[in-house]
Amino acid sequence: MNVLVLGAGIIGTTSAYFLAKQGYKVTVVDRQDSVAMETSHANAGQLSYAFSSPWASPSLPLSLLKWNLNGTSPLVVNPKLSLNTIKFMYRTYKNCNSNSYEINKSRMLRIANYSQKNLIDLESELDINYEQRKQGSLQLFWSPKELEKAKQDMVILKKFNIQYEVLDADGCVDAEPGLQYIKNKIYGGLRFINDFTGNCYLFSSELYKKCLEMGVKFEFNTHIESISIANNKVSAVKTDRGELTADSYSVSLGSYSPRVLSDIGIDIPVYPVKGYSITLPVLSDLDAPQSTIMDDKNKIGITRLGDFIRVAGIAHLTDYNSNLREKALHSLKEGLDNLFPHAAKETDDVKFWTGFRPSTPDSTPIIGATPYSNLYLNTGHGTLGWTMSLGSGKLLANIVAGNETEISLEGIAMSRYKYSNKTNLNYG
Ligand SMILES: Cc1cc2nc3c(=O)[nH]c(=O)nc-3n(C[C@H](O)[C@H](O)[C@H](O)COP(=O)(O)OP(=O)(O)OC[C@H]3O[C@@H](n4cnc5c(N)ncnc54)[C@H](O)[C@@H]3O)c2cc1C
Repeated sequence: MNVLVLGAGIIGTTSAYFLAKQGYKVTVVDRQDSVAMETSHANAGQLSYAFSSPWASPSLPLSLLKWNLNGTSPLVVNPKLSLNTIKFMYRTYKNCNSNSYEINKSRMLRIANYSQKNLIDLESELDINYEQRKQGSLQLFWSPKELEKAKQDMVILKKFNIQYEVLDADGCVDAEPGLQYIKNKIYGGLRFINDFTGNCYLFSSELYKKCLEMGVKFEFNTHIESISIANNKVSAVKTDRGELTADSYSVSLGSYSPRVLSDIGIDIPVYPVKGYSITLPVLSDLDAPQSTIMDDKNKIGITRLGDFIRVAGIAHLTDYNSNLREKALHSLKEGLDNLFPHAAKETDDVKFWTGFRPSTPDSTPIIGATPYSNLYLNTGHGTLGWTMSLGSGKLLANIVAGNETEISLEGIAMSRYKYSNKTNLNYG
């Protein structure tokens, strides 16, 4: 059996790996010249299993208002609102209530937990180096109110048996000594003891080599133009280098998935939420972050990757405009200086990057069957695709194989969106 995987980001690469492990002949097709060259390239590097949280929360609307009033919003919206942007904002807003938050967070945690287990298993089988650190992650609180807000999360974490520690400012500095200079400003933190950190691009490149050893073929520099349908099945994928055919097809084109799918009547609500990162060299090991720190109030994540620090954040709603916004660089740099004032070398050699988070309004990815019997989806991983990649890849492979999956698929497939199927076909 042949499977064609569309897209060689972290999600396509993990899908290919697990499909090949199941014994499938796998080909991966991508327009770039290597794996993980788009959104999976320079993300924040957090393997935030325990921190997996939906963007849409009950407090988001009020936070947006406050950010806009004090001019420090980590959300930037292009004033020329497209219909796509309006739809995404409206659907996200509909998820900003306690009930949806709990449902969405539980679904995300289910996939994230499973991903962590698969990463641990994979590391026991393969010698794989991706600047990994296993020192937990830390969510900072600036006020008692923020700790209070996190209590809803703690209830859900307990349900999933996820270990965490509530820390005071001293505890935060013990975990991350580089925070000592701002200790007086910190109220406390939530430490997720078992979270990891690692370079997503390096990991993808390492896994790519393993895939090659397993016989997976990669067709790079190949632009996918459309999907052809015959007899309610995918018959081919048209590219600028000719047609590719297989028995089954899996779409992991990140933020570009809806573009290819809408032509065949699949309308998934994946929106490109643009984000930015900067990568700078460490000045002093002790003053630098040791692992991952989330400043949820300002919506930035700071991660240690080898001798470098990665700072990422900002949600920019501007459809597929990939320009680098100079203001974003300054706000990320400021975010780092506010937390770790002596961490990074003063240098002009800052790597400034942007990527589109393939975001769904409920922050849960879309994995599984479509109305076409040989077409599957593994996309829409939003802010946490690196974190959820190994669980998603293995789930996808098991779904394609028709195996019983190791975790429940409840609420994960596209069928949860009633409006997404415009084909008049039933699901496979
Ligand atoms: C600033 C930022 C910080 C982030 N931080 C984290 C983090 O710390 N932890 C975490 O877990 N997640 C993080 N994420 C999210 C994570 O990076 C994404 O969820 C993940 O990379 C998505 O992977 P993907 O494979 O679905 O998409 P991509 O990596 O974008 O892969 C899609 C692939 O499809 C290809 N493609 C698209 N269209 C076509 C076409 N027409 N023809 C051929 N090829 C095509 C592209 O070339 C690309 O290689 C962050 C994202 C951003 C932007």
